[in-house]
Amino acid sequence: MSKLLPVEDAQARLFALRAPLAPENIAFSESLGRFLSQDVVAMRDQPAAPLSAMDGYAIRFADIPGPWAIAGEVAAGAAPGVALGTAQAIRIFTGAMLPDGADTVILQEDVTADGNILTLTGEAPNVPGAHIRTRASDFATGATLVPAGTRLNPGAIAAAIMGGAAQLSVGRRPRIAILTTGDELVQPGRALATGQIPDSNGTMLAAMLAPEPAVTSIPLHIRDDREILAKVLKDLARRHDVIVTVGGASVGDHDHVRGALDDAGGALDFWKIAMRPGKPLIAGTIDDALLLGLPGNPSSAFVTATLFLIPIVRHLAGARDPLPAIRQAPLAAPLGAGGKRRDYLRARLDGGTLAPFDGQDSGRASPLAAANALVLREIGAPPRAAGDMADYIDIA
Ligand code: AMP
Ligand code: MG
Repeated sequence: MSKLLPVEDAQARLFALRAPLAPENIAFSESLGRFLSQDVVAMRDQPAAPLSAMDGYAIRFADIPGPWAIAGEVAAGAAPGVALGTAQAIRIFTGAMLPDGADTVILQEDVTADGNILTLTGEAPNVPGAHIRTRASDFATGATLVPAGTRLNPGAIAAAIMGGAAQLSVGRRPRIAILTTGDELVQPGRALATGQIPDSNGTMLAAMLAPEPAVTSIPLHIRDDREILAKVLKDLARRHDVIVTVGGASVGDHDHVRGALDDAGGALDFWKIAMRPGKPLIAGTIDDALLLGLPGNPSSAFVTATLFLIPIVRHLAGARDPLPAIRQAPLAAPLGAGGKRRDYLRARLDGGTLAPFDGQDSGRASPLAAANALVLREIGAPPRAAGDMADYIDIA
């Protein structure tokens, strides 16, 4: 048996096969979940002038404790008409520009206005500059607001807009084809003849890709026929950045992905990973497209999609950190020793502790529904006790 490739080596090789796709400019409203291809740099100071942080009165600190003559009003969006003189106050609202001459805002709750006379009836600020947002106190022109490779969330989009950007440069979304293979598979919900099973993987993979910045075609299904598979692969490669097949990745007589890759004029990059489940994973190229051949068992397909498919999509879309985060939590119960491949144990994280399921047969679909974590167990790891820390990936 040839040596199995460690997961990290396989991930690195997969990313090295293709550079991130070319960037494109898009509207803010289209940008959620996309990966920035350049730093977002502030093109303006925020605030651009000193602003009031509260509703109240602009005053001079030196004039405390008053009283003051109310000399005008300034609301957000208006330029202050008048400068503040000695013993004067100007009515001011949150977000309004501070008038010249003022250095402090006193809260409206702390004063009482009678006609245009303002008197202190509560507490005065004890430092100059109270309740004022100074110029550029949020950010200054030239500041990096969001670094390249970041996945855009609502807060990052807001910061980019506030910085004065008109649109965003993000990585193009990879076009993904999902191809399920197997004579036994029947479309979800259809009647099953003897020996047939519903095709769950195609829809599962589409669901895993749905939150990602990708354009995913409706899953196709083909029979276990090497010739047809090769033709379909060749054809899909012309219109997609990634073809993900599921099933037929192993060495059985009816496993044709490896052979069809050759027949389609493709090149194998790696095959067989030191992981369980998921060992038969295939990666290669066909013309400009990447081929990722996932094993067909539901848990194998899920785990390899988590560790390879989603990360390659993110890599192509411009992510700085395309790999799933590895977290730590204590084990809820003892865990046996590791074997010759790294395990990704379907598990439940509840109340802060990790409980890997008893049945880890990769053919079972039911544990996937219950799992919210994949616990990593290293090759040859010693047995562990309850309470020992374990690495896991969040799959909730
Ligand atoms: P294979 O990798 O083709 O040998 O498939 C391994 C196991 O996964 C077999 O029991 C298949 O019936 C099952 N399987 C393959 N593809 C799918 C699929 N799309 N949905 C559900 N089960 C599948
Ligand atoms: Mg099969």
